[in-house]
Amino acid sequence: MGVIEKRSGGILVLTVDNPPVNPLGQAERQGLLDGITTAQTDGDITAVVIAGANAKFIAGADIKEFGKTPQPPHLPDVINAIEASDKPVVAAIGGPCLGGGLEVALGCHARLAQADAQLGLPEVNLGLVPGAGGTQRLPRLIGAPVAADMITSGKPKKAKAALDIGLIDQLVETDVRGAAIAFASTLQSADVAGKRVSQMPAPDAEGLDALEKSVARKARGADAPLKALGLVKTACETDFEAGLAQERETFLALRTSDQAKALRHIFFAETTAKKPPAEFKGTKARPVKQIGVIGAGTMGTGIAISLANGGYDVTLLEINADALDRGLARVKKTYEGSVAKSRMSEAAAKAKIEQISGSTDYAALGDCDLIIEAAFESMDVKRQIFAELDKVAKPGAVLATNTSYLDIDAIAATTSRPQDVLGMHYFSPANIMKLLEIVRAKETAGDALVTAFEVAKKTRKQPVLAGVCHGFIGNRMLRGYQREAGLLLLEGANPEEVDAAITGFGFAMGPFAVSDLAGIDIGYKSRKDMAPGSYEPAAVIVSDRLAEKGQFGQKTGKGFYVYDADARGKTPNPEALSILEDARTELGVSARTISAEETVNRCLLGLFSEGAALLEEGIAARASDIDVVYTNGYGFPRHKGGPMFWAQSKGLDWADQEIGQLATGPYGKWWQRPAIIASGAKGEGPLAL
Ligand code: NAD
Repeated sequence: MGVIEKRSGGILVLTVDNPPVNPLGQAERQGLLDGITTAQTDGDITAVVIAGANAKFIAGADIKEFGKTPQPPHLPDVINAIEASDKPVVAAIGGPCLGGGLEVALGCHARLAQADAQLGLPEVNLGLVPGAGGTQRLPRLIGAPVAADMITSGKPKKAKAALDIGLIDQLVETDVRGAAIAFASTLQSADVAGKRVSQMPAPDAEGLDALEKSVARKARGADAPLKALGLVKTACETDFEAGLAQERETFLALRTSDQAKALRHIFFAETTAKKPPAEFKGTKARPVKQIGVIGAGTMGTGIAISLANGGYDVTLLEINADALDRGLARVKKTYEGSVAKSRMSEAAAKAKIEQISGSTDYAALGDCDLIIEAAFESMDVKRQIFAELDKVAKPGAVLATNTSYLDIDAIAATTSRPQDVLGMHYFSPANIMKLLEIVRAKETAGDALVTAFEVAKKTRKQPVLAGVCHGFIGNRMLRGYQREAGLLLLEGANPEEVDAAITGFGFAMGPFAVSDLAGIDIGYKSRKDMAPGSYEPAAVIVSDRLAEKGQFGQKTGKGFYVYDADARGKTPNPEALSILEDARTELGVSARTISAEETVNRCLLGLFSEGAALLEEGIAARASDIDVVYTNGYGFPRHKGGPMFWAQSKGLDWADQEIGQLATGPYGKWWQRPAIIASGAKGEGPLAL
C-alpha cells in the first residue's frame, strides 16, 4: 500500500499501489504529494508520470475511509500540488479511473489512456459530489453540458468516448505506462503552460438549464445530482478558487447527510449479498460452460441473453418449432436494438447471437452444466419438466427454476437429485434487471448454491440468497405493500393520490400504475388459486371488478387509469373511481382524507413487517439483503436505503408503535408486531444493519 517511486531516465514514475484497484487512502495521498515535492527540487527529474499498479489507475477513495473524516493530506491539496508542479505530470490511465482517480488525472498536465480505461465521477451514487475539484476542472476541460451529464449521472466513459470528448489526450492500445514515460520524455517545463486545467477559461453555461429538468426527474428526490449540476453552473460563473471552496463545502455537507448514509448502506449491503453463505466458504463452484434455458418466452429469452453476455453458451428449449423461432427472433431483435443504439458492435452482436442455439428436444440439454427452467408458472408443468430433466441432465448438472412463487422443494422432489435443484429468480427484463434471487431449497447442496453465485458474478447480476416460501423475498413482501395500498383506497384515497405519494417518496412507479403495467388479470387469476383467508378481499375489490370487466390495465387501454394509444399519457379511469365509490357504500366506509405521509408509512410498514417476518422465518438472512432486493428489483429509491433501513432510520420503536396501532384497526389481523423489533432497537439480532 502506498506509492512506489521509480526513475526511468529523467522521468519519476509514481505508481499508486493499493490492490486490487488502487483506491486512495491516506498513504497513497501522502505518497503522491511526497513524489511531486521530490520532483520540484530534484534537478535530474524532467517530468513525472502517475500510474497505478497492475495496469489499473485509481478507482476512487478507499472504502475503508467511507463515512470517516479523512486524515491529511487532503485530496484537493494533493491535486493542487500536482497541477502546480513546474515539471510536466502525465497520467497513465488503465482500467478504472473513477472519482478521486479521475480528479487526480484532471490535475495532471496530460492524460494518456489505454483501451480498457473507464473514466468517471460516480460520487452521486454514494450521495456525494466530487470533492477534489472534479466539478470545477471537468467542465473547463470538456465543456459544461458534457461534464454535467457525466457528473450528474455518475456513469463512466470508455477510453474511446473519453478521447472523443477531449477528456484524454491520447488513446493507446496497451502498455499505457510505457507510452506515458515515452511521451513525458519529450516534455519540458515550458510545456506545462496552458495545460493546467484550473487556469483554462471558465466554460460556457449554455445548455445547463435545459438539463435541469431531466436531472431532477431521474434523481427522484436524490439531492446529490442537482447539487452537482449547481456546482457545474458555479464553474461557469465564478473563478476556480471560489468554485473549489463551494464544491468542498457541498461535499462535506452531503457526506454526513441521511441520503449518503442510505447509499453507503446499500453499497455495503450489495457487496455482502454477493458472497455465498459463510458456511460454504472455500466450497468450489461446479464448472459451468454450457447452460440450458427452458422456455423462450419473456423471461427465458432475457435470461439467455444475460447468460450469453456473461460468456456462456446457451441452448434454448421450447415446446415446438414456432415458439422456438419466436424466442430466437426476440433474442436477435434485442441484439439488433443494442447495435442500433451503438451499445454493441455488429460483430459482437453476431457472436452473441451465435452463442444461443435452440432445440425442441430435451436430449439437447444433455451436455449442459446448468439448466434454468423458465416455462409457464404451473406446478404441473414444472414437475413434468423436472422429471424430464432428471432423465436427460448429466450427473452434477445444476437444475434451477425461475418460478416466481412455486414451492421449489416440491419441484426438487420430482427428481432423484434434489441436492442439485435450486431457484434462480430473475426479474423482467432479465437481460437488464440486475437482481437475482438465488433460492436455497431444503436439500440444495453447497456447491450447487455456490455455482449459482458464480454465474451471477459472471453475468454481472446482483444475487441475494432467499429461502423457499410463497414469493421468496421480493414478491412475498409485496403482499403487505399492495394490501395497504388497496385498503387506503377504500378508506378514502384514490389511486392517483396513492401513486403520487409513493412516487413522491422516490419509487419509480406507484402500486396502481405498476398493477396496470403488469396486468390486473395476472393478480386476479393467481388469487383464484389461493386459499381463502390468505389475502384480504377488501383490498382487492377494485382490482377484481376491473378484471371482471376486462379492464386489465395498459394492455386493454384501461385499468386504474385510462391510457393514450401509446400508453405514455394516462388519466384516472372514471369507471375505477365509481367501482371504488360503490365498494365504500357496500362496506359502509365513509371516505376520509388521507395524507401522503400516511400513505407512505402504511405501504412501507407493510413491506417492513413482512420483511421482519422473513427474517424471523430465516427466509432472508440479513435485513440488508432485503434492502438490496427492494432497491434492485422493485424501484425502491436507493437514497432511502430500502424498507428495512427506512424503518430503522424512522426508529424501530416508532415502527413498533405504528404496527401496534394498525393491529387494533379494522384490518388489524394482518399486522403482527415482529418479535425481533425489540432486539433490533438495541442494534442486535437479525434486524441489525
Ligand atoms: P411466458 O409465457 O412469456 O414464457 C413461457 C414460455 O415457456 C413459452 O414460450 C412456452 O411456450 C414455454 N414453455 C411452456 N412449457 C414448456 C415446456 N414444457 N418446455 C419448454 N417450453 C415450455 O412466461 P414468462 O413471463 O417468461 O415466465 C416464465 C417463468 O418465469 C414463470 O415461472 C414466471 O412465473 C417466471 N417469472 C416471470 C417474470 C415476469 O415478469 N414475466 C418474472 C420473474 C419470474
